[in-house]
Amino acid sequence: DVSSTDNKGFKGHDMLAPFTAGWQTTDLNPLVIEKSEGSYVYDHNGKKYLDSLAGLWCTALGGNEPRLVAAATKQLNTLPFYHSFWNRTTKPSLDLAKELLEVFTANKMAKVFFTNSGSEANDSQVKLVWYYNNALGRPNKKKFIARAKSYHGSTLISASLSGLPALHQKFDLPAPFVLHTDCPHYWRYHLPGETEEEFSSRMAKNLEDLILKEGPGTIAAFIAEPVMGAGGVIPPPATYFEKIQAVVKKYDILFIADEVICAFGRLGSMFGCDKYNIKPDLVSIAKALSSAYVPIGAVLVSPEINDVVYSQSNKLGSFSHGFTYSGHPVSCAVALEALKIYKERNIVEKVNSIAPKFQEGVKAFSDSPIIGEIRGTGLILGTEFANNKSPDDPFPAEWGVGSYFGAQCEKHGMLVRVAGDNIMMSPPFIMTPGEVDEVRDSMLLYASLTVVEKFI
Ligand code: PLP
Repeated sequence: DVSSTDNKGFKGHDMLAPFTAGWQTTDLNPLVIEKSEGSYVYDHNGKKYLDSLAGLWCTALGGNEPRLVAAATKQLNTLPFYHSFWNRTTKPSLDLAKELLEVFTANKMAKVFFTNSGSEANDSQVKLVWYYNNALGRPNKKKFIARAKSYHGSTLISASLSGLPALHQKFDLPAPFVLHTDCPHYWRYHLPGETEEEFSSRMAKNLEDLILKEGPGTIAAFIAEPVMGAGGVIPPPATYFEKIQAVVKKYDILFIADEVICAFGRLGSMFGCDKYNIKPDLVSIAKALSSAYVPIGAVLVSPEINDVVYSQSNKLGSFSHGFTYSGHPVSCAVALEALKIYKERNIVEKVNSIAPKFQEGVKAFSDSPIIGEIRGTGLILGTEFANNKSPDDPFPAEWGVGSYFGAQCEKHGMLVRVAGDNIMMSPPFIMTPGEVDEVRDSMLLYASLTVVEKFI
């Protein structure tokens, strides 16, 4: 197995089996993580790893923030659970909703609907949008447009919205009401001589063509991550969102921002929408909302949609949707504390103080003969290996260059996300300059030297 065994016989864990998540087994020799501290995690043998992905793009405050633990403990000792059905609720969930509506300023939002995860948030978006259109008497406005290579979750609907073939082919997905438009990856898809701005215009034109082909009256919403995450860390090309939003608006199509990875500072702005001047109608958040210490996700809803959904004259009756754990008081208490910490510690400034060193440190390897592109912004970064530095000349899949790199990192104490020949990083916001140097040194050792030695 070339993919994960080095010359000294080190066999990394099988990083190409990520979608067995949840199915626990010891057969595949999993890496068992036992403890976390700051930007590091420790396995059951006590080996220390720099967690360059912050768990799964989520432990923004690192591995042992005592205030989050205290917030959970306090809430567990007061009211470990109450639900939010039938106009009953808890104070932490009311307080958190209020705080979220204040902290999200890219567009005015009126309501918060709590879920347990990003996938549930995106599923809930679809039901909300359908309900909204049904209430407005336009039941045919049902289709969703997402983008190739997007990731929106793993439930039936959120996996349908996702644009990754692995989530579709084995499951008879996507659902028929989901369409996919282009992935806006300039490096990979631009035409010879095409500028980023021209590329973005073409992306917007292709979206408009798709809308016209399907019939604008049938398209309900467009969903996008401000920076695409699991699809390979793909920031939008210049002018992309400006042009896309103009098209969406022209045809009365709602814009859903999937901020599950980008929210709360990762891009060097409080939300991805702030960074790219996106004015969404609906927003999905999760992950850093609680710094991942407890599961929680949420949907933010615009006043226009809220007015229809909660209008007394709405003949559909109540929006019959909710989860036992929607607005779980412990999750909300932890999230409230996380938001408080982000504010007190000026988390956006903190990210911006470390991000240039992180980006420049890794991008310094852009000239490596085996690296096609290194891309990212703030504290999110993707490295793509490619033969001859060309997007059209990938390494043979059976070489497993990416998974070899990932295994080398793991061997030497750094965890990265591997997807094919893409390496992804999204470290905790609390990363220190010394830890950023450690990431750069690992890149130097494994990307520039070890991997080149093995494959070139
Ligand atoms: N949306 C985006 C952009 C994500 O990256 C993810 C997870 O990585 C999800 C949605 C799904 O979130 P969850 O895994 O919490 O269901």
